[in-house]
Amino acid sequence: MLAAAQCPEYLSSALLESAFNQLYERAAAKQLPWLRCELHEVARGDSDQAIQILLDQLRLRTPVQLYRCPSTGTLWPRAILGWAPLRGCLGQLHEITHADADEDRRWGRARRELREFPIFAMGLWGEEHSAQLSPQENKRRQFLFKDGARNLLSSTTTMELGIDIGGLNGVVLGNVPPGRANHMQRAGRAGRRADGSSVVVTFARNRAFDREVFVRFQDFLRRPLRRPLVFLDRPRFVRRHLHAMLLAEFFAPIQGGRTGAMLAYSNMGTLCRTGVPPKWTGSTKPEWTPSRQQPASDFIVFLEPIRSAVHPLRQRCRNIVRDTPLDLIAESDEAWLEFLLETERQFSVASKEWWEDYEALRSAWTDVPKDPSSAVLPGERAKANSIRYQLGALSDISVIEWFSDAGFLPRYGFPIHLQRLSVRTPRVDRADKSTTAEGYRLERTSLLALSEYVPGAQVLVGGKVAESKGILKHWTEANRDEALGLNNWALRCSNGHDYLATSQDEQCKECGLPPQDAGQALMFPRFGYTTAAWDPPKPPGRNLDRVGEVVLTTAGGFTLNAATKTELNFGGITSLIATYYEAGQGQLLLRNAGGDAWSKVGYGFAVCTRCGFAMSEEKPSNPKSPPALPRKFTDHASVFSSNPMSRCWPNTLAYEPVLRHKVLAAKETTDVLILDLPVNFDEATLFSLGRALVLGRPYIRYPANTRRPVIRDFS
Ligand SMILES: [Zn+2]
Ligand SMILES: [Zn+2]
Repeated sequence: MLAAAQCPEYLSSALLESAFNQLYERAAAKQLPWLRCELHEVARGDSDQAIQILLDQLRLRTPVQLYRCPSTGTLWPRAILGWAPLRGCLGQLHEITHADADEDRRWGRARRELREFPIFAMGLWGEEHSAQLSPQENKRRQFLFKDGARNLLSSTTTMELGIDIGGLNGVVLGNVPPGRANHMQRAGRAGRRADGSSVVVTFARNRAFDREVFVRFQDFLRRPLRRPLVFLDRPRFVRRHLHAMLLAEFFAPIQGGRTGAMLAYSNMGTLCRTGVPPKWTGSTKPEWTPSRQQPASDFIVFLEPIRSAVHPLRQRCRNIVRDTPLDLIAESDEAWLEFLLETERQFSVASKEWWEDYEALRSAWTDVPKDPSSAVLPGERAKANSIRYQLGALSDISVIEWFSDAGFLPRYGFPIHLQRLSVRTPRVDRADKSTTAEGYRLERTSLLALSEYVPGAQVLVGGKVAESKGILKHWTEANRDEALGLNNWALRCSNGHDYLATSQDEQCKECGLPPQDAGQALMFPRFGYTTAAWDPPKPPGRNLDRVGEVVLTTAGGFTLNAATKTELNFGGITSLIATYYEAGQGQLLLRNAGGDAWSKVGYGFAVCTRCGFAMSEEKPSNPKSPPALPRKFTDHASVFSSNPMSRCWPNTLAYEPVLRHKVLAAKETTDVLILDLPVNFDEATLFSLGRALVLGRPYIRYPANTRRPVIRDFS
């Protein structure tokens, strides 16, 4: 290649061509295990020979014979007709031995150091640094890296901010960062060394954005840095910040000492003054009298005196609302009162929802027989303790998470609505019992969790593969799950509206038509997913298994509200009508029906109600009666057991404690933008709009009788 670069052009292309052909032929003859050859499509219908270096097949070896150039002193592993391909190598190369090379004045020291220094004996030792590992584990790896005990750190964007690891020799970026600021943050990790010996390599992936930056990298670096922007003209943003301020005032005298940011407003159990029943350990059910208070009334009581026009908190609100649509509350006493009444209303709606979940669980616990006969006791006790666990989990939800989700508090900036993949490992002291493994923090937004954590899916973390085996337990038993409201139906009317319903025959909320088919039975995993203790994380194989496909639809009903804004000729496109619904009126419904990720057909999951173990279902032969469960399911070991040969269901069990054909689902509140395209929309504009939408990755709902959208890329 070097030689070719110094040749006249006609000669260099002939040389390169000849080199390529030789490589291609030898690869085709399977003589080079590190090279793959195939015909590759270069244009539509036109293909050409292509070769690919299989990097994981490349090996290093010591040269059999060494040569030294008498004029430049360079060493070579081979001689071509006695010459070396380097300008300035004027004489015939001399054959030398390795001992000669060690004595060489120029190379001897480098050779000895490479052989003897421990740092080189280590070779490349990489570690992973990601938000999926616990903060302690990340800190440990950072320390090893800083200390030189590791010399490669593979990192997600976690390293972008706030972590000091000093200057690096090199940074390789796995893709083009979204903006110039990110690029500077990441690339800037290298280049702090005084000797200037650092390098930054950016890998441009085969995506439109990366290609564009690759072609015009100068433009990318010259872009003005994006300024952070706050939309002060949106009433709901201002309102949520006022709510946050009021809640902070409310909690200030209650909350003593330091807490983490997420618990700054404590948790829902504390706010609603609810309790959790004692654990049932003996033979009789413990006594428990739950508080009968109305949901979260303390805050409402707190708001009452603030209605006074001269309350000091009004002054503080004045400072927040300046130059915003809510600045009227500073001037008008009626506006101030109105604002507080609306705050009260929104707060009540959000806390009532939590209270209902709590009440359902509370009555489920109370309904467990007090004095069961000894034969059923273990089951009843386990059930009561399981409900107790859920009551605890529900109470532990932070006030910030619950009220952000309800649109009462600012949402962004808090890690809310995350779903966990809990990794279980055998306990050190009792190998038959299991515990949640430390060192991992596998958390994803509900959307990504539905794609990456569903049962059967594999996750690469900390250099190991963890396989999801089930749903983190949060329900009681099969005949209770409806009552708990954790299951829903996803239906579609003949107008093509998707909607969520509590029963299978509920009418469409938008147009009142009945559902057009049986719909799908949904389950919303509240806490996330789990691995099984009998299948601890193991070294990775070739590919990671994915399960099913995430389908996005709206959860329906948003058009019942008044549109926030309607604009004709949107984006300068004649007769394109854009209708916008804000304030979280829209809801996205995300579903994964399981099955093979490639076939895109799933039949839901079978879920064990005892331990949470779950598996994709096979196609039902008769829609009325579900197919028999595979042995792999009926004989499964509990996800909490480290013994794969144990059985979750004893043979004596009179019924199969299983939920069938459950489509796993998650909801996300969102704004909605509806684009009504004119009939004679020109193709070029349509294409541009389509590309923009794909890049923006919204959910797209087409009118009835058009093909359903498929959005595949969740990366
Ligand atoms: Zn409808
Ligand atoms: Zn089970």
